This record gives sequence, C-alpha cells and structure tokens, in this order.
Amino acid sequence: MDVAVIGAGQAGLAVAYHLRHLGARLTVLDAGPGAGGAWQHRWPSLTLGRTHALADLPGMREAGLSFSDAAAGRPAREVVAEIMSAYEAAYDLAVARPARVDSVSRSGGFFTLETAPGSVVPRLEAPVVVSATGTWTRPRTPDLPGVDDFAGLQVDTPSYPGAARFAGLRVAVVGGGLSAIGFLDEVSTVAAGVRWYTRRPPRIFEDTTSELGLNRGRAAVAAQDTAARAGEPLPSIVASTGIPSTPPVRRLRAKGLLHATPMPRRAVADGFQEQDGTVWQADAVIWALGFSPALDHLEPLGIREPGGGVKVDDSRVVKVPGLLLAGYGGQASTISAARAARRTAWRVSAFLDGTEPWPV
Ligand code: FAD
Repeated sequence: MDVAVIGAGQAGLAVAYHLRHLGARLTVLDAGPGAGGAWQHRWPSLTLGRTHALADLPGMREAGLSFSDAAAGRPAREVVAEIMSAYEAAYDLAVARPARVDSVSRSGGFFTLETAPGSVVPRLEAPVVVSATGTWTRPRTPDLPGVDDFAGLQVDTPSYPGAARFAGLRVAVVGGGLSAIGFLDEVSTVAAGVRWYTRRPPRIFEDTTSELGLNRGRAAVAAQDTAARAGEPLPSIVASTGIPSTPPVRRLRAKGLLHATPMPRRAVADGFQEQDGTVWQADAVIWALGFSPALDHLEPLGIREPGGGVKVDDSRVVKVPGLLLAGYGGQASTISAARAARRTAWRVSAFLDGTEPWPV
C-alpha cells in the first residue's frame, strides 16, 4: 500500500479520486458510520438550499452525479450522504468504515496508524499519509467565566437538536458566523426570547454574487493559506469576509432581531451578566463558536509549530515528510478542496517517486 487517506469527507474523497487516477494503491479510512463526511451529522433543518452551495467533486459529472442538481429542499445530511456514497461506488474508493484513527507515528520511513477498538481496520502501515479529517469533531468551546454555573440547556453546533427543542425558552445564541445566524433565525420562530452575543460586531455585506463577493472569498482563502504556510493558527473565515446577506439575515433584519450584543462578562446560574452588570435571563444557550482542525491523531508526530499552528506548504506538512493535510486552511470548502485535490495527489506521487524534495 502506498497511501493511507484518513477521512472520507469531500477533501479526502477528492484526493483519493486523483490518487486512483495516478495509479496509487490506497486505503481510505473513515470514523463515521456512513458516507457523507461531516455532512451526515448536520442538523436536519439544514437543507441543501440553506447551505452556501456545494461544488461538485472531481469526476462527479462523468458519473452522472452533482450536488447542484439535487433537491434544494431536502436535508443536506441526506442528500450529500447519498451523492457521496454513489461517488465512492462509482470510483471504487472502498472506504473502510468505521475506522477511527487514534494515532499516527512514524519510524523507518513508514507511518503506523493505530485505530480505535471496533474499527474494521485494526492497524495499518503506509509510506504516505493524507489526513483529511475536517473540523466537525472539534467545535470551539466557550472561555466565558461561569459557564459551568449556567443551569440551563447548553448545546454547541454539532449537538444542535433543531428549533423545536427551544420552544417557549429564552435562548442565547453565541457566535458571529453563519451557523449562529441560522440558529437565531430558526429558534426565534419558537422561542420566548432570543439574544445574540458576539465578540465583535459582525460586518454584513449585501453584494454576494459580484466580483466584490468573490474577492472577499478569495481574500479569506488567501489569509488561511498565508497562516498555514507560516505555521500559525488559522484565522476565522468570517472575521475576514464578513457575513453575506443571506435569506436568514434578511428575515432577522425584517423582524428587528439582527442586533448583536457584546459578549457578556460571565454566565450565571439563570442567564448572562452583560457588560453593564444586568443579567439577561436565559433558559438555554447555543454555542456556535466555530471549529478547529481535527488533528489530535497526528500529535505523536510533533507537527505543531511554537505558535500552535501547523506549517503546511501546498498540503505538505513541512516537519514530517510523507504527511499531507487535505481540506486544511484555505481548502476547507468544497470548491477549494476539489481544486486542491489534484495538486495534493501530484505531491504524493512526486514524494513516492523521489522526484521532488520535501519543502523545508
Ligand atoms: P469533513 O466533511 O468533516 O470530513 C472529515 C471526515 O474525516 C469525516 O467523515 C470524519 O468521520 C473523518 N474523520 C475525522 N477524524 C477522523 C479520524 N481520527 N479517523 C478517521 N476518520 C476521521 N462548505 C461549502 O463548500 N459549502 C457549504 O455550504 C458549507 N456549509 C457548511 C455548513 C456548516 C454548518 C459547516 C460547519 C461547514 C460548512 N462548510 C461548507 C464547510 C465544510 O466544513 C466543508 O465544506 C466540509 O464539510 C469539509 O469537508 P472535509 O472533507 O474537509 O471534512
């Protein structure tokens, strides 16, 4: 075996597709129960039409598959799982699942992958590892004082149960991104009251389709790439782009609810103490604080730079020859993951052939 690909989300599958075309012998491992990467775990009310749009993976059209042709009103978690499952079958990607990789170590030019109990693959060795494990398993946790004192219901983005659970409750939504806006929009229709807390006032831009909108996206990807090349922690995408004026944004504005309150001083048992000392009484809080890259399984390889980031040059982890990250930083969307996958596969091939030095 030449390559172990860890993670069968869009990033891992796109790289696997190109590696197959280059003739690599590969094993794709995934922790999840089924196809679809993180999409299979998204909350049920997130329909395909409510996402920012998913770009097709390489070879999808040729296999008669497409995200953009799929029914916009169906839950994304169902549609994406179906399409990705058909894609895996069309290109014989034979994903081994469930197979959660707990640790990756390296000795004598080979990586050893140890998997969790119950995995269909107990242990694996390979000269190259492409890790494409996304961020879904690493939601950022609140650092607000008093969080443990809050007696109400607390959920984060991955555990968001749908709006019905918040009927009749006073709900705080914390976070400045699109997920927070989506939760606020849904929950505000059933809750007794909502409050939106953000660290900085969100910048909302109206122009989502023109060159200006595209430039914002490019600038955000460039900022992620620059941080990855420097080995710095990745910046927040929304902080660099702002928030597009999506239908939820427009609905909230029309209802007079698009007002972010500065982060509270602390949580207390029955709510949130705000900057002026008063307490906003709450029964529930939704933490939508974004995500960090899921890289715990790579910690034995010592990939971190002193600042906590990982130095990555065109998918290649500079500190560890033979280890590549897919879907990391600027590749964390369907469009950029699909674009980068071919180059990642070439880098793997060049490493295996010994035709290109590893970056330093
Ligand atoms: P994932 O889809 O997370 O796939 C990673 C895979 O790795 C998973 O299948 C997981 O089971 C597996 N895995 C993780 N750890 C291990 C391990 N240790 N061992 C084995 N397997 C492991 N992007 C868009 O382009 N358009 C959108 O509309 C869009 N909407 C989004 C909405 C939300 C709410 C969020 C959070 C993100 C959205 N994104 C969107 C960005 C999105 O994260 C990516 O598009 C996509 O999910 C990332 O794909 P990925 O392959 O990198 O990771």
